[in-house]
Amino acid sequence: MTRVTRRQFGQLLGTTAAACTLGMPYLAFAATGKVVVIGGGAGGATVARYLAKDSMGAVDVTLIEPSRRYYTCYFSNLYLGGFREYESIGHSYGQLASRHGINVIHDWATGVDASAKTVALGSGEKLPYDRLVIAPGIDFKFDSVPGYSVAAQSRMPHAYRSGTQAQLLKSKILNMRQGGTFVMVPPPNPYRCPPGPYERVSMIAHQFKQKNPKAKIIIIDPKLKFAKQSLFTEGWDQHYPGMIEWRSTDFIGALKNINPETMLIETEDETFKADAACVIPAQKAGAIAMMAGVTDGDWAPIDPKNMRSKADPNIYVLGDASVASEMPKSAYSANSQAKVAANAIRAELADASAAAPRYNNICWSLISPDNAVTVGAAYEGGAEEIKAVSKFISQTGENAATRKTNYKESVQWYSAIASDMFG
Ligand SMILES: Cc1cc2nc3c(=O)[nH]c(=O)nc-3n(C[C@H](O)[C@H](O)[C@H](O)COP(=O)(O)OP(=O)(O)OC[C@H]3O[C@@H](n4cnc5c(N)ncnc54)[C@H](O)[C@@H]3O)c2cc1C
Repeated sequence: MTRVTRRQFGQLLGTTAAACTLGMPYLAFAATGKVVVIGGGAGGATVARYLAKDSMGAVDVTLIEPSRRYYTCYFSNLYLGGFREYESIGHSYGQLASRHGINVIHDWATGVDASAKTVALGSGEKLPYDRLVIAPGIDFKFDSVPGYSVAAQSRMPHAYRSGTQAQLLKSKILNMRQGGTFVMVPPPNPYRCPPGPYERVSMIAHQFKQKNPKAKIIIIDPKLKFAKQSLFTEGWDQHYPGMIEWRSTDFIGALKNINPETMLIETEDETFKADAACVIPAQKAGAIAMMAGVTDGDWAPIDPKNMRSKADPNIYVLGDASVASEMPKSAYSANSQAKVAANAIRAELADASAAAPRYNNICWSLISPDNAVTVGAAYEGGAEEIKAVSKFISQTGENAATRKTNYKESVQWYSAIASDMFG
């Protein structure tokens, strides 16, 4: 594997921020057939749009998504930090229907009959398919944190799925008592957006620095190390000195109980009293992937060459729900996987062969204003795994101009992926 500089990495992918629109080469297949896509997130909306666009309407695409507006988890941390308005991270499905002729159904998929090749909807209707794409994102294993539950999420929001949890968490941050303690409990691996909890801590610290400067943040982490750790800790020491304390449960004992009424968080060795908290439980593939029978344990194994389910040749699984080997669970990854799958499905429906798959991921994290760090990789789909072929990560001690450029790229990327998904 090649380790490359930031500049070389940008050149490899096109220009870094625009790279999410760089995907598989367009191949002209005369594909026809019915494709149903479950889930209108980073994976599902992208695959639906690319299937419709690249087949020029010849493939009949139906997208099933319960929400009328998709609020991205990506950039929700920037909303918490006060760098974005909530509405700026919300997107509607209108253009997928009006510009690309996609049949968008706002409902839940409640079951998959793999032998009849139909998807059942909450309305009771059944949709037939030639190929099915399952991209439902994650569900939580609430009982992975003793005492945590669906009910507890109103007191200790996870804010780790699209929806109003991010607004709830922000109000708890802004209304926390002066000099109070905020506790963050990140999830164990594997989970969506590995640097996400730590970028979130940075954004909360940024709010506290201005509005609640004596506040403390304690991270009770079930892991021994975390993504971009040296970059985050350097940034925390520099911008929020003395505010953030990271404690691994390897040293303070496993989480024993969380009490959302008393706000006490107990490990085997210590008890912490939170004034506000964010608890993110362990994760698994969205329930519909389990119901469709494409999971093995918590996640859905796929063929690294095309994202096709290992359990059913007519089903593809994208994004966080899949086992994409070395690719992290990110919107960038899901968007990249969607383009590979769209090409593969069109080729299959046309009885042709698809181009060799190319996958990419870049992930930016904002630590303080104009100070973003980044990690990225280009991947190949081998016989057994999706493997990184070149990697890039920001370095500690970098100059302010580089960090500011990173931030600008992340803002450009956000606009690029939003239009790539929603047309
Ligand atoms: C705080 C935070 C910050 C993040 N920052 C970044 C970042 O900077 N960059 C990045 O690349 N990624 C980031 N991510 C990760 C990113 O949000 C996810 O990896 C990405 O959204 C995964 O895409 P997906 O399509 O698999 O799932 P999602 O985007 O979650 O979409 C799944 C969709 O499926 C729908 N669905 C579920 N079940 C059903 C069903 N039964 N029927 C119909 N529809 C269903 C859901 O309503 C949802 O809209 C971040 C995540 C978090 C939490």
